[in-house]
Amino acid sequence: MQDPESTDGLFPAAGFEPTMAAARARLAAVRPAAYARTRNHLEGAVTRLSPYITHGFLSLPDVLQAVLARGPLEVRHRFVFELAWREYFAHVHAHVGDGIFKSMHTGVLPDEAYAQRWPDDLRQGCTGVPAIDRAVRELYATGWLHNHARMWLASYAVHLRKVHWRVGADWMFAHLLDGDLASNHLSWQWVAGTASHKPYLFNADNVARHAPAPWHSAGTVIDQSYEALDRIARTPQAVAGGRGPSCAEPALLPAPPGPGWHPIDGPALRGHRVELVHAWALGERPAPPAGVIRVGVWAKPGPAGLPWGATRWDFVMPRMQSMCDLMWAGTADELAQALGHADALQGISNPHLPAQWAQWPLQAAAGLLPLQALRCNSFSQFWARATKGLSQATELLHAR
Ligand SMILES: Cc1cc2nc3c(=O)[nH]c(=O)nc-3n(C[C@H](O)[C@H](O)[C@H](O)COP(=O)(O)OP(=O)(O)OC[C@H]3O[C@@H](n4cnc5c(N)ncnc54)[C@H](O)[C@@H]3O)c2cc1C
Repeated sequence: MQDPESTDGLFPAAGFEPTMAAARARLAAVRPAAYARTRNHLEGAVTRLSPYITHGFLSLPDVLQAVLARGPLEVRHRFVFELAWREYFAHVHAHVGDGIFKSMHTGVLPDEAYAQRWPDDLRQGCTGVPAIDRAVRELYATGWLHNHARMWLASYAVHLRKVHWRVGADWMFAHLLDGDLASNHLSWQWVAGTASHKPYLFNADNVARHAPAPWHSAGTVIDQSYEALDRIARTPQAVAGGRGPSCAEPALLPAPPGPGWHPIDGPALRGHRVELVHAWALGERPAPPAGVIRVGVWAKPGPAGLPWGATRWDFVMPRMQSMCDLMWAGTADELAQALGHADALQGISNPHLPAQWAQWPLQAAAGLLPLQALRCNSFSQFWARATKGLSQATELLHAR
C-alpha cells in the first residue's frame, strides 16, 4: 500500500486566484476534444472552472461562448453535456427548494440505517484506502476535487461506511471552493441512490483505471467485485474504518472573517440606488453610473447555515471587496431593512440568497439551456427537452 502521507500523485495547489484574469486564463485553457477523451481521469483535461462558475465570475453562457469562439461544437459534445448537469441540478433545486436537503426517495436502505456523524477517520483522511485518504487531503489542500474523486468519496462514505448522504454533503460543501447546494447535495443523493435508480459503486479496478498510482487501492476494502460491493451497500452493517496517519481538518468559519466589513447603515443609502453584490455574483460589471452605490452583502448564517473553510473566504472576500463601495454582513432581516432605505435595488438573483429576498426585483442569472417550467424527473429527460431540434451548441446561445 502507498504511504498516504506522500505527496506523489496529489495535485499541486490548484491556484484558484480570485480575479477575472485567472478566470479568463482557465477559460482560454479549455480543450474540448481532450476534455471529451480524458474527462473521467483524475489527470484528464478537466477545466477547473467550477469555483469561478459557482461564484459568478463566469456564467455558463460565458463559458460556452468563449469555447465556441475557438471552434464549433455539436450540442451533444461531452463538454456541453457536462455543463448541462449543473443546470439540471439547478432546475431540480428551483422546483423542490429545500426538498434537496431530504432524500428524494428511499435509497438502498432506509434513511435511519445511516449514521448522522461524519467518522473521524474520514475527517482526518486516515481510512487506510488511498483513493479516499488522498481525496480528503486534496480537498483540504486546494478546495477542489475531480468529479471522480468526489464520487468515490461519497460512495465509500454512504455505501461502505453507512454515513447518511446529508452528513457527507454538508461536510464536503463546507470545504469546497465551488460548493453549490444544488450540484453538491443532489450529486450526493445521486451517488446514494436517493435521487437515481441505483447506488453508485466503484472498486479498486475503477480507481486504477482513472487515477495515478498513488491513489491505487488494491488490497483494501474497495478491492472487491461489483456484486460483492452491491451486497455490502444493501446491508446495514458498516465496514470498519481505519487508523492510518492522519491529517488535520482545516478550521471552518461560520461567518466571513477579518476586516473590510462596514457597520450596517441604512440611512446612508437614502437618495441612492444600490447595486447589490454577493458571493455568487462576482463577475465583471460595467462601472456603476453616478448615484449608484455598490453594496456587498453576506447574510448570516449563510446558505443552509453551513460554515466555510478559510480558503473559500479568501477566494470570495477579496474579489467582493474590490467590487464594492460598502461591505455589510448581518442577518437577512437586518440587511433587508437597511437596503430598504435605498431609492432602488438591482442585482443578480441566486438560490443561495435568503428566501425572503426573492421578492426583490433581482435579475435572473444567465443560464444556458431553455428554462423548463415542468419539472423533469431525470437528467436525460431534461437534456432531451432542452436540446430538442438543436444540433450545434451555438444554437443554445440563441435559444434563450
Ligand atoms: C459528490 C459530488 C459533489 C459535487 N459538488 C459540487 C459542488 O458543490 N459544486 C459544483 O460546481 N460541482 C459539484 N459537483 C460536480 C462536479 O464534480 C464538479 O462540477 C466538477 O468536478 C468541477 O470541476 P471542473 O470545473 O474541472 O469540471 P469540468 O468537468 O471541467 O466541467 C466544467 C463545468 O461543468 C459543470 N459540471 C461538470 N460536471 C458536472 C457535474 N457532474 N455536475 C454538475 N456540474 C458539472 C461545472 O460547472 C464545471 O465547472 C459534485 C459532484 C459530486 C459527485
